[in-house]
Amino acid sequence: MGVEGVRRRARVAVIGVGMLGVCVGWNLARLGAEVVLVDAGRPGEGVTDWSFSWVNAANKTARRSYFELNVAGMAEHRNLAADIGPDGWWFPSGHLRWADDPAGQENLLNSAALLAGWGYTVEVCTGAEVRRRLEPALTVPDSTPVLYCADEAWVHGRRLVGRLVRRAVAAGAELRTGTRVRAIGTGPGRTVRTVTLSDGSRLDVDAVVNAAGPDAADVAGLVARHLPMRREPGFVARIDCARVPVHRAMHAPHVELRPDGPGTVLLHSREIDALVDTGAQPAELARLLHTSAGHVVAELGTARVARTRVAHRPVPGDGFPSVGAVPSVPGYYEAVTHSGITLGPVIGRLLAAEVLGGKRAGMPADFRPERFT
Ligand SMILES: Cc1cc2nc3c(=O)[nH]c(=O)nc-3n(C[C@H](O)[C@H](O)[C@H](O)COP(=O)(O)OP(=O)(O)OC[C@H]3O[C@@H](n4cnc5c(N)ncnc54)[C@H](O)[C@@H]3O)c2cc1C
Repeated sequence: MGVEGVRRRARVAVIGVGMLGVCVGWNLARLGAEVVLVDAGRPGEGVTDWSFSWVNAANKTARRSYFELNVAGMAEHRNLAADIGPDGWWFPSGHLRWADDPAGQENLLNSAALLAGWGYTVEVCTGAEVRRRLEPALTVPDSTPVLYCADEAWVHGRRLVGRLVRRAVAAGAELRTGTRVRAIGTGPGRTVRTVTLSDGSRLDVDAVVNAAGPDAADVAGLVARHLPMRREPGFVARIDCARVPVHRAMHAPHVELRPDGPGTVLLHSREIDALVDTGAQPAELARLLHTSAGHVVAELGTARVARTRVAHRPVPGDGFPSVGAVPSVPGYYEAVTHSGITLGPVIGRLLAAEVLGGKRAGMPADFRPERFT
C-alpha cells in the first residue's frame, strides 16, 4: 500500500542523495509529492562519485531477472538522456573487454554467446579492428578477441545527481545537506511518522526512503530492521593527463579504465580491490593500477595519479537489490543496490510509483526487501 491519500500531498523524506536517492526523489517530486532530500554530506559525493559507472547488463548474468532489470536500466538511461539532455553526464560510447590468457579469452567468448542468445548487442572483434575503428591508442595484440558492446555507456554520476537535484528542487523538493538522519519516529503499528536530523530539526513525514548507500544498514537500524550488507570495498584512482587517450569504458587485463571528463582518466581493478583489506597503502595500490594502465595505453604511463579513494559498494547480503516497501514498517522503503549507476533511473521510477500509489508490480519479487526478515 502506498501513501496516496494519507494527506493531500504525501510528504516523503529521501535519506541519502546519491544516484539512488536523487532518482527516487526527482520522480516523487514530479508525481506531486512533497519531497525532502536529506544528505549527511553533499549530493553525489558518496560512492556515486567513485564508481566505475559502467551502464551495462553484460556483467549481470548470474540471474536472468537481474540481467533483465539491468537491461531495463540501460533503456531508462537512454530515455533520461532524451528527457533532460545528455550534456556532461551521458556517454553512450559502448564498452570493450578482452583478456590476455587463453582461459580468460574462452570465458569471454562463452559470455558473448550467452549474451547474444539473450538478445543482447555484442560483437566479437579483433585487437587490430578495435585499434582501427575505435581506440587507436590501445596496445591490445592484433589477433586478440575483444568483446564490443555498442549499446553500453558510462555516466558521470556526480554531474547527473547535480542535474536531477536541480530538477527535483524546481519541481518543489526541499534539499537539506550536511545534516544526518539520526532517528525515525514511528506511531501505532510501527507506522513511520517523523524524521529527526542532526541539526536538531524534526520533520513530520508520511514515508521515508532509505537510499543511504553503504550506510543503509545504519538507517534500517533506525526502524529496528536488520538489513544485511556485504563488505565490498573498491579502490579507485583518477589520473590527470594532458590528453585523454581513450574514448570509452573498457575492461583490459588487470585494469578497468574510462575517460572521466577533460584531462582525467579513471582506473579501477577487482584485483586491486582484493588488496584493500591486506593493509597495503593507497600509494602502492595506485602505483599498481597506474602500471597496469600504462601497459594498456602507453601514454597513460607518464600521466599523474591525482586522487584515490576506497569506496564501499552498497551490496545487500545476497548480492541483489533491496527495493520497495517493508510491510512490517508501514511508510518505510528501501532503495539499496550495487550497480546503482545502471539501475538508479529505473528503480527511481518504479519505487516512486510504489511509494505514492502502492503499485508493487514493476519490481521483481526476488529484489524485494522482505526477503531479509
Ligand atoms: C569501485 C566501484 C565500482 C563500481 N562500478 C559500477 C559500475 O560500473 N556500474 C554500476 O552501475 N555501478 C557500479 N558501482 C556501484 C554504484 O556506484 C553504486 O551502486 C551507486 O553509486 C550507489 O548509489 P547510492 O545513491 O546508493 O549511494 P551513495 O552515492 O553513496 O549515496 C548515499 C548518500 O547517503 C548519504 N547518507 C548516508 N547515511 C545518511 C544519513 N543517516 N542521513 C543522511 N544522509 C546519509 C551519504 O552522504 C551519501 O551521499 C560501483 C561501485 C564501486 C565502489
